[in-house]
Amino acid sequence: FAPWSDPAAKPYISFENVTKRFGDFTAVNNLSLTVYEREFFALLGASGCGKSTLLRMLAGFDDPTAGRILLDGQDLRGIPPYRRPVNMMFQSYALFPHMTVEANIAFGLKQEGMPKGEIATRVAEMLRLVKLEQFAKRKPHQLSGGQRQRVALARSVAKRPKVLLLDEPLGALDKKLREETQFELMDLQQNLGLTFIVVTHDQEEAMTMADRIAILDKGEVMQVATPAEVYEAPSSRFVAGFVGNVNMFEGTVTDLSGGAASIRSAAGLDIMAHNAGAASAGNPVAFAIRPEKIKVSSRKPAASDINVAEGEIYDIAYLGDMTVYHVKLADGQVVKASSLNASRVTEDPLSWNDRAWISFSPDAGVVLTR
Ligand code: ATP
Repeated sequence: FAPWSDPAAKPYISFENVTKRFGDFTAVNNLSLTVYEREFFALLGASGCGKSTLLRMLAGFDDPTAGRILLDGQDLRGIPPYRRPVNMMFQSYALFPHMTVEANIAFGLKQEGMPKGEIATRVAEMLRLVKLEQFAKRKPHQLSGGQRQRVALARSVAKRPKVLLLDEPLGALDKKLREETQFELMDLQQNLGLTFIVVTHDQEEAMTMADRIAILDKGEVMQVATPAEVYEAPSSRFVAGFVGNVNMFEGTVTDLSGGAASIRSAAGLDIMAHNAGAASAGNPVAFAIRPEKIKVSSRKPAASDINVAEGEIYDIAYLGDMTVYHVKLADGQVVKASSLNASRVTEDPLSWNDRAWISFSPDAGVVLTR
């Protein structure tokens, strides 16, 4: 499933140069974005970056100040929320406290005028879908947070919308339940064949669930890509720093040959990167490299002085599955390196204040010009 890499694939939802202003504040700035049918799409960004505003405009609760939003080729302007094949599940769930679980799920169907028998069938189907058959007669206050979340989910898909918008759907759940529920949501989306757009500020959540992620900052799209691309090939310093841990070496390109770049870092570290990206000679760039791509050893590796730096172990954190090292280089920059403990049988040979060398391969990082 990768319609975004198929040039013939037809976009299902398109934001075209959408701007949203509140007074003189621009919440969404000339933003364009495409989502495909049956995609699990995540909008990821810090608080206030405009994520919810995008969902609200797609649902029809708000209009763009400029630009347009298309769904299946149709311009949505002027179409009221209830006539859009879009449903929204809110952060707070907004269940009716005095109604049972089944009445909550049936509510929208009744309003729509669906015949009673059909409602009963649909509600039963939804209860099965979210595994709450035994809880049909309970009221929301008699449920756990995770169960309430599933009722809200069942209610929001009961009308069989084509698109479900989820605004921080797992925000109220604790970490363990969140992780379980992420997989349940993915299953649900697959089983129903719906298009999901989820808003989150939690990068792990976006990485886990989404086919593609749009990273937003101040109402603008910074990058749209698969989780792996966002992590392995971030397009800017902002994205590299926003998603996962990263070491950033600021420097200047001293030489370009055959697509590779030689970089002198500000701190005097000589870096060779096989993929120079968009860099040109003399350019200020950042070399961004993930902690797990950096090796730490107590002895100086091999002959080369390229992609090698000497430092001192500044911190060691044993996290069970992996160990994270903070290595302080001569200029004071602290580099993060991590290694999996999968095959570790003995005590760590490195300890605090030890002299240590970091090293990495020429294709372990990316060269960023933005
Ligand atoms: P959060 O994760 O905190 O919900 P968000 O990325 O969803 O943040 P939005 O709710 O889309 O952010 O808001 C984007 C910006 O627009 C914020 O700075 C917010 O204060 C502003 N904003 C949103 N709605 C209104 C409104 N009705 N009037 C004025 N400003 C608004």
